Amino acid sequence: MANKIRGREKLVTCSSCGRTMPKDKSVKYGRMNVYSTELKSGDDVKATTFVESYYCISCAKHRRIFEKLGRKAAIAAARKEREFKRPTERWNSGRRW
Ligand SMILES: [Zn+2]
Repeated sequence: MANKIRGREKLVTCSSCGRTMPKDKSVKYGRMNVYSTELKSGDDVKATTFVESYYCISCAKHRRIFEKLGRKAAIAAARKEREFKRPTERWNSGRRW
């Protein structure tokens, strides 16, 4: 987030709406694109590219890339609880007959 010590930050453009904002105010989002000749079989040619894009705060929030820190913690806690509640041992877990 914004840091006053660094002086003027470089401007970046939001890849969703086109808004221009300082780089330290933007939300960086990287994503792997996988291109494959054939998805079903194993012996195929794959090429991956890493696409990096910047979003403004509102677009990032809309796309659920970025959350407020408190909300982020709440989501993480909820996820953890859900994982904790999931029964790991079932009556037939891992058993074959
Ligand atoms: Zn935007």
